[in-house]
Amino acid sequence: MTVVSLENVTFAYAEQPAVKDVSLTVDEGDFLGLVGPNGSGKTTLLHLMLGLHSPDSGSIELFGEPVAAFDDGERIGYVSQQATSRGGSMPVTVREAVTMGRFAHAGHGRLTDADRATVDDALETVGITDLADRQVTQLSGGQRQRAYIARALASEADLLALDEPTVGVDAESRDAFYQLLESLNASGITIILIEHDIGIVTDRANRIACINTELYHHGDTESFVESDALTEAYGATGQVLHHHH
Ligand code: ADP
Ligand code: MG
Repeated sequence: MTVVSLENVTFAYAEQPAVKDVSLTVDEGDFLGLVGPNGSGKTTLLHLMLGLHSPDSGSIELFGEPVAAFDDGERIGYVSQQATSRGGSMPVTVREAVTMGRFAHAGHGRLTDADRATVDDALETVGITDLADRQVTQLSGGQRQRAYIARALASEADLLALDEPTVGVDAESRDAFYQLLESLNASGITIILIEHDIGIVTDRANRIACINTELYHHGDTESFVESDALTEAYGATGQVLHHHH
C-alpha cells in the first residue's frame, strides 16, 4: 500500500520553484528521512504531501486518493516545524490536548470509555501519564513533543509527519524520542521525518529522500550512505548562493 505518492511535483511561492519536478513514493511501514540543506524545500515538500499547498504541476496522492480530495485527517499526525519550541498557546491540559485526537472518532456523541482508554494508552505509550493534568504550556520541549505524538496516537493516525521535531529538545530526551519513533514504526506506523542531523536519520530511517529543490536521492538508507547525493545536494546550495552574489 502506498501512503504518499508524488509525480513530477513542482511548486513555487514566487518565481523560483521551492520544489522542482519531485517524484517519490512512501510505502506503508516506511520510515522516510527527508534531508537537505537549509531552505532546500523540505518543509514545502512535506506541506505538499499533506495537501497544505497545491502543486503548480504534477500530482500527489495520499492513501491512494488525490490529496485535494483527501478528508481523512485523523489518519495523519503532523507536528510542524518549531511546534515544540514555540509552545502551545491553548490553555489546555495534556489529557485534554490528547483527547482532541479522539474527537474525529467520537463523532457528535460523548467520548466513550473506549475513547478514554485509548487516550490513557496513548499517554502511557509516550511516557507522559504523570503529566496528564499539567498545562501544555508548562511542558518542556521534549515533553510537549511527546504530547503531540500521544495526540496522533489517540487519533489512531497511521502516518506521522514530523518536521524537525527535536529542535530545542535536550540530547537525552532526543534519544528517547527517536527510540519511541522506532518502536511506533515497528508497530506499523509510517513515519516521515525531517531532521537536520544526518546521523540520526541514517541510524533510524529505512528510506531517505535528499532534496535541494530537486530530488538528489530517493531510496534505501544504505544506498544513500554509499552515494554522493549528500555532497551533491549540499554542494549545490553553495553554488546557488554563489550564483546569487
Ligand atoms: P527547508 O524546510 O528545507 O528549510 P523550506 O521549504 O522552508 O525549506 O523553504 C524552501 C524555499 O522556499 C526557501 O527558499 C524559502 O525561503 C522559501 N519559502 C518557504 N516558505 C515560504 C513562504 N511562505 N513564502 C515564500 N517563500 C517561502
Ligand atoms: Mg523546514
